[in-house]
Amino acid sequence: MRFAAFAEALDRADATASRLETSKILGDRLKALQGEDLAFAVNFLLGQLGPAFEALPVGVGDKNVVKALSALTQTSEKDVEAQMRAVGDLGELAAKAVEGGRQKTLFAEPLEFAQVRAQLVQISSQGGKGSADRKLKVLQELLSSASPPEAKYIVRFLIGRMRVGIGEGTIIEALAHAHGDRKRKAEVEAAFNRHPDLALIATKMAAGGFEALEGVRVQPLIPVRPMLAERLKSVEEVLEKLGGRAAFDYKYDGLRMQVHFQEGKVAIFSRNLEPYTDQFPDIVALVKAGAKAHTFIVEGEGVTVDPETGEIRPFQEASRRRGRKYDLTAKAEELPFALFLFDAMYLDGADLTGRPYRERREAIGRAVREGEQLRLSTMREVESPGEAETFFLQALADGCEGIIAKSLGPDSVYRAGARGWAWIKFKRDYSAKLGDTVDLVVVGAFAGKGRRAGHYGSLLMAAKDAETGNLVSLCKLASGFDDAQLAEFDARLKPWARSEKAPGVESGLTPDVWLEPK
Ligand code: ATP
Repeated sequence: MRFAAFAEALDRADATASRLETSKILGDRLKALQGEDLAFAVNFLLGQLGPAFEALPVGVGDKNVVKALSALTQTSEKDVEAQMRAVGDLGELAAKAVEGGRQKTLFAEPLEFAQVRAQLVQISSQGGKGSADRKLKVLQELLSSASPPEAKYIVRFLIGRMRVGIGEGTIIEALAHAHGDRKRKAEVEAAFNRHPDLALIATKMAAGGFEALEGVRVQPLIPVRPMLAERLKSVEEVLEKLGGRAAFDYKYDGLRMQVHFQEGKVAIFSRNLEPYTDQFPDIVALVKAGAKAHTFIVEGEGVTVDPETGEIRPFQEASRRRGRKYDLTAKAEELPFALFLFDAMYLDGADLTGRPYRERREAIGRAVREGEQLRLSTMREVESPGEAETFFLQALADGCEGIIAKSLGPDSVYRAGARGWAWIKFKRDYSAKLGDTVDLVVVGAFAGKGRRAGHYGSLLMAAKDAETGNLVSLCKLASGFDDAQLAEFDARLKPWARSEKAPGVESGLTPDVWLEPK
């Protein structure tokens, strides 16, 4: 299948500010694709070469694109850089370069999906000696066969800036639209929550429509999107909301870990489904040693413990273990981890996500053998405010940040990817003030004044509206930045500047510069 029509659809999507329109354009285009081409197209839209949880390498630096364009147009790199500053987008510049050089490529074969995919993989996965030259060569080849819109999106994909306002939500809508009923997008989303691979979901739907979503199952070694908690301001309210009786579970303040085990193989994923396996060889060893069942998915919170006393250490220590790629064994000894398990989603061939809480909790003990460092979370079923309060204070005394109360009702299933009232968290600081963190997205910036002149002085923050999927501006974020942070904002945010509001952003305020909501 030709890549050109897909790139043209992207151009149309890029030109509209409406999220609805974007998902329609993409849905109509995806409908025309199948199999590998469809899977690649979906991943391409998301700026990835495979599902996010596999974290496959993608892309090249801007500098390499400049080099390729310089060779393509036989202009000096300096000139290309100057043009780049004028145009403001390397993708746009690549389209112009290809347009200008068209005569030379009149006889080039049109690009097919499979070829684009193979060459993007080559460009992204090359490493070692001489790889920079090889990458450049493949990139030049690819661009010299590309039409202007193809060049534009190939370059944007490679530099990690697709700019069409497309995220998972848009693609979920696009797929529902492609199969004739946008209103059924919740079904697509539910499948994505169980098995977060939209390329796979798209290909299954291409073969069997909405009915095929039934076949998208929880699967060991593929992460499940985590269930999240609501919050309330007192243990009394929590208990009342849950019908007067609930499981109170210690809320450990560490790193959430989803642990998969299949026939001796372990995979660990973070709360955001990033692979953790390589960063935590000690947890991998703990799970291998403690595994009782053949196959399971369990979930817990990893915290650092004092090797002498077994006491839980503050969150900052656990977080120091994250993202370290060197000397893992030494770190594991210096900051040993304990994993407190609180849920089980799969056990020896059975998907437990539709089972009630008590049953899942009981399954943890059938999946693993408890030990010093691999333990069940401390939990008690409580039915009076007095008991609840005592348990909460004990949690604090034991180094936890509070409790998570869990429903015991028949509907207490594991709701993958959803924040709901089956789990309610309560932390000490809730009682006095709003002392929790919230996840917001930067959608714009205001020019700084005085000491902050020349920098982004304050940021426009937005939250996702669960109904519409739009990002709605909520506040400016302006205080508490030091010089290093201001410099970091410049470096990290400037590449995302755009002249207009990104599609799907709603804001009553107009910042000096809009930013791509990344
Ligand atoms: P927070 O920043 O408060 O941890 P969050 O947005 O990461 O919040 P929530 O669902 O709101 O996630 O709160 C639940 C979090 O608490 C889980 O993501 C998990 O990391 C952590 N946690 C600690 N102990 C438990 C437990 N016993 N049961 C469930 N979650 C727990």
